[in-house]
Amino acid sequence: MMTNPHPLRAKVRIVLVETSHPGNIGAAARAMKNMGLDRLYLVQPVDYPNEKAVFRSASASDVLDQVVVCASLQEAISDCSLVLGTSARQRRIPWPLVTPKEAAIKITEHGAGAGDIAIVFGRESKGLKNEELQQCQYHVNIPTSEAYSSLNLAMAVQVLSYELFCASEAATPERVWDQLPATNTDLEHFFGHLETTLAEVGFHDPDNPRQLLTRLRRLFLRIEPDQMEISILRGFLKAVNDATRRQS
Ligand code: SAH
Repeated sequence: MMTNPHPLRAKVRIVLVETSHPGNIGAAARAMKNMGLDRLYLVQPVDYPNEKAVFRSASASDVLDQVVVCASLQEAISDCSLVLGTSARQRRIPWPLVTPKEAAIKITEHGAGAGDIAIVFGRESKGLKNEELQQCQYHVNIPTSEAYSSLNLAMAVQVLSYELFCASEAATPERVWDQLPATNTDLEHFFGHLETTLAEVGFHDPDNPRQLLTRLRRLFLRIEPDQMEISILRGFLKAVNDATRRQS
């Protein structure tokens, strides 16, 4: 049955990083289609394409037909302005933590007009690396029994997709803003510029980085800067660069 695409859900992509088992990819595609999602991105899947994925997708092989395979997480999310990473584990430097329900509300508030949205899932064996979670604005944790906190990958996709389905069926007003949110690419360029500038003025020692850049990354991701704010900050960094270079 053909249905009209839902404007918000059409903007949401599910990103699976280095999935080992093709069956999980198929089961994730099925979970997505049940909940009105159809944009599946695979970052370096270990064993794909594979018949097991088609088998486990049941009547969602159309989602697999449109899969986008990417060489890196960055490539999968570069044009997204809201990126949420899912993980069962707390990290040493905690990232802003939300439940699946809260994540779904963040997505509906972000709205369909403000750029694409990614929900990122990790490897079956090791989950997401710290540096992968640190490319996301939010850490989504599915509450579980303390005895066993790690869900099967496709089940985790199901929980997130279900909450998003419920939240997107109930109309939450979109945030009204005068500028577009910065994309992942805008933010990564800014972080690169910030890092070189901090090193240039002697505030950051690349040989002894400690957690300075991680903490600054968390600060700027938390405030969800828009494109204008990022270009102001980059203009400021450029002025600092010009001043330091004139002196040296
Ligand atoms: N052993 C891994 C867990 C991998 S489970 C680890 O320690 O991180 C595979 C993926 O499913 C995870 O990377 C995450 O994306 C998702 N997932 C599983 N359980 C989850 C939970 N409780 N909360 C959020 N995401 C979860």
